[in-house]
Amino acid sequence: MTHKDLQLALAVRFLALCAVLGMATSALVPFSLGAQTPVAETFQRDPKQAIDESYTQLIRKYTTAPALNSPLTDYLPASSSIPTPAKVLGDVAGAPDVLPYAEEIYRYFRLLAAASPRVKVFTIGHTEEGREMIAVAVADESLLTHVEENGARLAQLADPRSLKMDDAKAQALITQSFPVYYITGAIHSPETGAPTALMELAYRLAVDNAPYVQYIRAHMVTLITPVVEVDGRDRMVDIYKWHKAHPGQNWPRLVYWGHYVGHDNNRDAMAMTLDLTKDVLNTYLEWHAQVLHDLHESVPFLYDNTVGDGPYNSWIDPILTDEWSMLASDNMARMQSFGMPGAFTHGDFDTWSPGYLMFLAGLHNGISRLYETFGNGGADTEKRVLSPGQYSRTWYRPNPPYPTVLWSQRDNNNYEQTALLSTLSYFAQNAKFFLNNFYWKSKRSVEKPGNEGPAAYVLAQDDRSWNRQMQLLKVLALQHVEIQRLTQAATVALPPPSHKEEEEPKPGTPPPPTSQTFPAGSFVIRMDQPFSRVADALLDRQFWSPEDPQKSPYDDTGWSFGDLFNAKVSRVTDRSILSAPMSPVPDLSQIPAAEAGPGPFYVVNNSAQVSLASLVYALQGSADVSICEENFESDGHKFAAGSLIIGRVEASKLKPWLQQFDLAAVSIARPPSVKVHSAAAPRIAFMHTWLYTQTEGWWRMAFDKLHVPFAYISTQTVSKEADLRSKYDVIVFAPGAGESPQQIVDGLPMWGNALPWQTSSLTPNLGKLDSTEDLRPGLGEAGVAHLEDFVQQGGLLITAEDTAEFAIDEGMAPGVFVAPRKTLKVVGSVLNSAVVDNKHPVAHGYDAAVPLYSADGLTFTVSNLTVNRNILTAKEYKRPTGRGGPEEEDIPEGRPAEKAPPLPAPKAWQATPLNEDQERNNPYLIPAAYRPQVILRYAAMKDLLLSGLLENGEPLAEHPAVVAAHFGRGDVLLFANNPVYRGETIGSYALVFNAIINFGHLN
Ligand SMILES: [Zn+2]
Repeated sequence: MTHKDLQLALAVRFLALCAVLGMATSALVPFSLGAQTPVAETFQRDPKQAIDESYTQLIRKYTTAPALNSPLTDYLPASSSIPTPAKVLGDVAGAPDVLPYAEEIYRYFRLLAAASPRVKVFTIGHTEEGREMIAVAVADESLLTHVEENGARLAQLADPRSLKMDDAKAQALITQSFPVYYITGAIHSPETGAPTALMELAYRLAVDNAPYVQYIRAHMVTLITPVVEVDGRDRMVDIYKWHKAHPGQNWPRLVYWGHYVGHDNNRDAMAMTLDLTKDVLNTYLEWHAQVLHDLHESVPFLYDNTVGDGPYNSWIDPILTDEWSMLASDNMARMQSFGMPGAFTHGDFDTWSPGYLMFLAGLHNGISRLYETFGNGGADTEKRVLSPGQYSRTWYRPNPPYPTVLWSQRDNNNYEQTALLSTLSYFAQNAKFFLNNFYWKSKRSVEKPGNEGPAAYVLAQDDRSWNRQMQLLKVLALQHVEIQRLTQAATVALPPPSHKEEEEPKPGTPPPPTSQTFPAGSFVIRMDQPFSRVADALLDRQFWSPEDPQKSPYDDTGWSFGDLFNAKVSRVTDRSILSAPMSPVPDLSQIPAAEAGPGPFYVVNNSAQVSLASLVYALQGSADVSICEENFESDGHKFAAGSLIIGRVEASKLKPWLQQFDLAAVSIARPPSVKVHSAAAPRIAFMHTWLYTQTEGWWRMAFDKLHVPFAYISTQTVSKEADLRSKYDVIVFAPGAGESPQQIVDGLPMWGNALPWQTSSLTPNLGKLDSTEDLRPGLGEAGVAHLEDFVQQGGLLITAEDTAEFAIDEGMAPGVFVAPRKTLKVVGSVLNSAVVDNKHPVAHGYDAAVPLYSADGLTFTVSNLTVNRNILTAKEYKRPTGRGGPEEEDIPEGRPAEKAPPLPAPKAWQATPLNEDQERNNPYLIPAAYRPQVILRYAAMKDLLLSGLLENGEPLAEHPAVVAAHFGRGDVLLFANNPVYRGETIGSYALVFNAIINFGHLN
């Protein structure tokens, strides 16, 4: 089909759609276009319905200015049989000083469900700490009793293959179906208003007889998860209670939200590592919902950020971007008409990264939406002083928020409910339109190979990548992406190279291949499936132009999972791949591990798997595990240095572990003759600061998921514990939030009162992961000394990003320095690196190139001196004034010329060698055995960027990325990249775990 044919076909389809819609009912005309009714009438309450006078009085009392409420929420309809939120809260929703725990919120929803046939409550899962997550469905009883049949119809619209892509059948289903609008609250624990707003919203939707509310509940299901981050909510309520019990004092900050991460719980929609992400996606997909609308609270007064700013995510259907605009323009127009100031859309949020929770809908053929509202981090009513950036008028914010405002949680609840009610009304009025779009988006996802492509992504059968491929495929499975496996080899045509070769190929160079063959057993991600878009978005590469007008990316600019998982993914455009023989893989865990053979020895070849350390710890004490220091061959198998050699184990004991950890072992008759050392299962301590625990939380999660045990300690523990070495072999000091070395040492200023993080009757949810009577003290000078002793006595300290800078700053990494970044710009990009020292155990199993995640372009330089002295190199030398041309040598007159010794010409990742004069009696000279070893360096400019943004990359190119420094008898491992990040950097995990299982053999 040519482009023109396609356009014509789409136009015909659109006309057919209009005809269907036009015939069905006049209510299907988009509401904002057809609505001639004044606002007061459109959203008028039912004058015949009684008002709950006392509740309404309190709404007025707690609203700080009349303009901060609307005709939709300035009253509460009365019901003789259905309890209002006051039944559980003891006051109205959004009342000052009232912040309910998740359990109280749930109790209310269950009371509501018991009293009203229009409300149903479902358990949708549990958090890492075992707390329940719920979803609440609100609609007319006639809808709720037919949710299953409706779901079956929506399932067919969601997978048009089941309709054989027949639009007429789809239209018939749309006519009979009602949509599901899923609202989620309180993913960000310090953003506290959503749960009470959603309690009252559910009451209104169930009770209010205003015609527009009746219309909503008669035409759609509103699905609500009032608390997404339940663990964090309960901790936040604890803190609020502590604050109320200690008037006039500072209160502790929320150093832990969820069990692992804080704000980044809203960056998990790609790698799907958190229970809350899985539970929300599963609920969203089980209901075949059309919208996922997530409520936040960090911008005054209401920012519908969905439309946002460019660049837009490149893998979403254009229908979605127009849906964002439609919903937001109607929604903000309504807010204007209610006279509520400070409601706006657009703003500076770019819609590039799909990591946000709402994007689960955006990449699963739904509509992602997000409100930022205003909040005080609790239920206090406070005078808030806004910044000019918040209150100034601009093109997208013609009616901005007030420069100062007395703001209450009730104000927040008014805004959230008013905006939601008016947008639900618009959505209900246009239900069939959005259902139709839902079908179109699903269909176009299935049609992807014939439209924009590609046809498929293929992970070629490859023993070396198997383990990391499995981790990647498991993520796709959590995303509900269908996975197939070739049953025979398949050959596909390759597209011509996408970029022009800079030079003519050298004579004799073979032409680039025109086809590629994938062996049987290769995994195929077909793009003719309903969720092709999420697979495409994760597996493709990203490019953020340095010329892009958006200069402040909101989050990471690159995430290509094939790179980050170090598992080669082929983007196949040749549609013949779709007819290759293949069969579905319904359950990855059922793929049997390779037969281990009879033994008595087994080798697990090191190919930088994520889980070698898991196996070492699992077998600790029950088998002999050693690590070979060189490559070897046995019975025709080749094994790399770093491979595990396992003895004193039965195949039947070994096999379940191999299956669990996605590893394969080869049986050998006798141990190899190459040098080996015992695999270490060292005693690990994780050291966190009390400043911020999120980024280290991603590391902690990785260790937990891989069953690598550790003690969890804080910088305060280390400041009190003089003999760390007797307890621990390895201390992992995972990155913080860019804290300076001084902040790590000092902690928070010691003015004011102590800030406890402890379990108490007032704060039952605090102090579980770790506790302190006062968050403020940092590592202190004593802690630094204890840490230095630990390393000097043979310990291994693992650091990354800001903690690497800390180790450098404290002198624990002699000869390593932070490189100046100049005008370099990197914002969460995927960069290539090269192995410098393939003998170093940290690099075991890796090929020559290793993709790394870099948050901001940190890199190192190394020196043979402990001080950062510039030693002149050939590259820096500029010839002086004198005889001859610019490239010629000056020669003094009157004597023969003396040839100067050549200046050193080190590579960017190497230390500059000193000459004998520079070395003589130099106290800063590091003895050869103690000089830092560069293990990985960033790639040269032309190969550096894999995905994301890279601007002025010269200060980074070829510079050290991973360095082992030596301090006393111990080692400090420094990562300029973050090797363990958001569950996305699976390919670089082994750099950390190789260090751990080779503890004691790193120098
Ligand atoms: Zn938020």
